[in-house]
Formats: sequence, structure tokens, C-alpha cells
Amino acid sequence: MARSILTLILLLSFNIYSSAQQKSFMDYVLSWDGESSILKVELTYSAAQKDSTVFIFGDPSFGGQKDIFNVIKNIRCAEPEVLKIEEADRRITVYHNGAKKHKLTYEIDGSLPADKPTMVSQRELFRPVITKGVLTLVNKQFALAITDKSNPLVSFSWHSYPEDASYFNSVQPSQKDPSEKLSAHYDEISNLVCFVMGDNIEVREYSIMDVPYYCVTTKEDTYGNDLQGSLSPFFESYFQSIHRFWNDTDFPFYFLSVTALQNNQKEIGGGGFGIKNGFVMKLGRVFGLREQYVTAHETAHTWAGIKIMLGEDSFDHQWFGEGFNDYTAIINLVNSKIYGREEFLNYLNDDNFKQHYESEIKGAHNDSIAANYWTDYANYGKLPYRRGFIYAFYLDNQIRLASNGKFTLRNTLLDLYALRKTKKKDEILTVEDFINVGAAYLDKKELAAQISRYMISGQPIDFNTVKLIGEFEVEIDETIPKVSLTERADLLKIYQW
Ligand SMILES: [Zn+2]
Repeated sequence: MARSILTLILLLSFNIYSSAQQKSFMDYVLSWDGESSILKVELTYSAAQKDSTVFIFGDPSFGGQKDIFNVIKNIRCAEPEVLKIEEADRRITVYHNGAKKHKLTYEIDGSLPADKPTMVSQRELFRPVITKGVLTLVNKQFALAITDKSNPLVSFSWHSYPEDASYFNSVQPSQKDPSEKLSAHYDEISNLVCFVMGDNIEVREYSIMDVPYYCVTTKEDTYGNDLQGSLSPFFESYFQSIHRFWNDTDFPFYFLSVTALQNNQKEIGGGGFGIKNGFVMKLGRVFGLREQYVTAHETAHTWAGIKIMLGEDSFDHQWFGEGFNDYTAIINLVNSKIYGREEFLNYLNDDNFKQHYESEIKGAHNDSIAANYWTDYANYGKLPYRRGFIYAFYLDNQIRLASNGKFTLRNTLLDLYALRKTKKKDEILTVEDFINVGAAYLDKKELAAQISRYMISGQPIDFNTVKLIGEFEVEIDETIPKVSLTERADLLKIYQW
């Protein structure tokens, strides 16, 4: 008897616990008319026994965002609730005053300020694209962050939307009806949610090594792009190549979203960022060689940068997360025949060696990068990419030479990925791990000294004293290294897997 009472008490307390958990929710209902730059958001949420609820909008590491309250507007709650907005901290507090139900409404303005369109597309990543026929929206651009640990169930559904519009969502991409509710727990949604919608949107589906891939683009733009056509080589060869490079098809799906900015400006460049299972690009020009590169770089981040990251934060060791990622992207462009000799050597010499060795801040310490990244993007924005790319190329050559061609940098990266998989989710990969893995291919002390000297202190590699594999030759023009291929060298043989 005593035992069954205990069981009953346990069951009861479990029920109370689980219903308290279930009660915690955030339900977003979204509306867009298909024409305007305004997204209307209605958020119903739980606030169990609290006097007030605090929300935060935006994330300063997501592209600056000084004028964030020009993006989020007309924030309202219903009486008796009262709002307090602290712009400096991007903080929205709702005092409930006894209200049992809680609803917040606001608007997200996706129009681009006409005075600085380039900045907007490349650096103000927090701005969504909401314009006639096109809506591109990720959760950081419209959803609110909470300040407690309640981990509510977050759901999204569309209340009004243009009838004949194409629609894509990155939570459940097979789901085609915008009015159907999508749900995920709060701690799972950061970097997960992307909506693309509009009558100027086309969604094409591919199957690559049994992984569903989605190509989401604008259909027509003022630059004359055929984006589905421009992106098809990625779906026909690049993604296959990079899956083989990493020996990995462990994905539920992957998507690319490339939408042209339609704001009557001339060429305004483009900007992109990766989110879970996909990448989102805002394009303000013709899709050309540079955009091919950006697509390759961003999609390669699935591994270096996302699945495999060194340090606590993506800013800690960008030489790896950006630079090594960049190297894998370029050699996969070669492997998939999108890049030939000329494109490869141009990228190596003109975009990396020349830019890096001419840079006045090429010797900046690794720790000074994060602080200057958004404020001096022209200099610091690309520094870790180039520094890491050049080192990855150098390291690849060293590993090939030390093993007589048996091993390449790819073997080290695969070992690092294998090590990552043995770690728990909250454990980080460290530079020490990188050195330990590399020690199977190169002298450990020498490798540790190189990383400390070149990647952390920031000293440029002196290519006067560097030996490369027989297929590459290097000459120093003034102080700038320039690599060429010997006549019999075959890039496709060098970069094969
Ligand atoms: Zn990157």
C-alpha cells in the first residue's frame, strides 16, 4: 500500500511537472501581403506566475545593427499589460498586471535604407528581405529571444500570405502549406528557421546521395540572372564532391536560398550566412565567379565552421573556421570541375597571397580580430580567411611531402572530424586537439610552433624557405609569393578523393 501511494505521488508530481513544461510556449502567427515590405507578427506566449516577461530582439554579432528599432516597429500589447522598451539593450519588457493571456504584436520592416545599400546587403545581416514578390526571413530577423531557461515550445504559422506564392521553410522543408504549424523547442531553433516566400520565388528539389537538397531562388531580377541555372553545377557536382571529401551524408536535408535584392540600386554586391542545414544569400548583382565562390565557401561551412569548430566561439579561431573552410571549398570547386587551373591560381595568388602580403595588418594577433571585425571589416573581415587559407595550402603541401604523397590535409581533417564525433555536444574542440591530430602526419613540436607563430601571433609565412610538392612552383615578387603549376601538373590528380 505504502508503495502504491509513493507511486501515485510520483506519478502526480510527474504530471504536474510535465504539464508545467507543456504550458511554456511561444506561438508566432505571421502575415505578409506579398507586396509590401512589412511582416506582421502576432506572438502569443505563456508567462506562468510572473509579474513581467523580458524579451530581447536581435543579436549584435549578426551584422552590427545600430538602428535595430527601425527594423522592429509598432510593438504593442493589450491592456492591462504595459510595455517598456529599452533600445540600447534591445530589451522589451511586458508588465502583465494580472493579465492571464499574453499577446505581443509588432512589425518587421524589411525595406532597405536607400543611402547605404551595400552596407545593408553585406554587413547588416539582421535585415530581412521583404519586398514585392520576395520574402526571405530567418528567425534572428523576426523572433524574440527569452531571458529565462523555460525552453518553451516555439511554433510558427502563417495567417495571411499571397495565395499563389511559392513557399519554403527550413524546419520541415517537405511541408508546402504555409498555414500548417511548424514547431520546435526554443533551444533547438537558433539557426534553424528560414522562410522564403513569394510569387517571384522558385523552389527546386534534388536528391544528392539520398539527401534531399532544395534550391530556393528568385525567378526574375533586374540583373537578368537565371539563378536556378547558375546554381545547377553545385547540385550536379559540387555537393557530391564535398560529401565524398568528408565521407559524410549524415544530414536530414540541405538548402540554398539565393534571392536577388530588388531595390532599384545598381550593383551592390552580395552577402550570405550559413544556418543549420542551409545557407542564405542576398544578391545585389549578376551571379558570377565571385558568387560561385561564395556559394562554395558558405555551403562548405556545414563541416569546417559548423560541425567542426575550434574554440568556444566562431570568432576564436577563424583561421580554421574560415580559412581552412575556404581551402576545402576551393579544392572541392577544383574536384567538381567548376574551377579550372586559371580560377584556382587566381584565387590562390590574386585573392590571397597578394591581398594578404600587401595588407598592413597582416601581422595582427589572432586575439585582435574579433574586436575589429565589424568596425574595420575592410581590413579585419578578410584577414583570418586569407591567413588560414594560406596556412592550409602550406600544411597540405607539408603533409604530402612528409608522407611521400600518401596523405593530404584531408586525412588530418577527417581525423579531426572523427575526434569531434567522439566528444560530447558541450565539449569543444581545441587548438591542442588540432595539434594532436596533426601529430600523426607531422612533427608535433614543429606543428605547435607553426600554429603559435603563424595563426596566433600572426607572423606571415616566409615562402622563401618553403618547399612545395613537385607540381607547384613558388616565386617571390617583391615580398609577395606567387604560385604556379608545372606544365605536367594535373590539378584534378592533386585534388582527388
Ligand atoms: Zn565563412
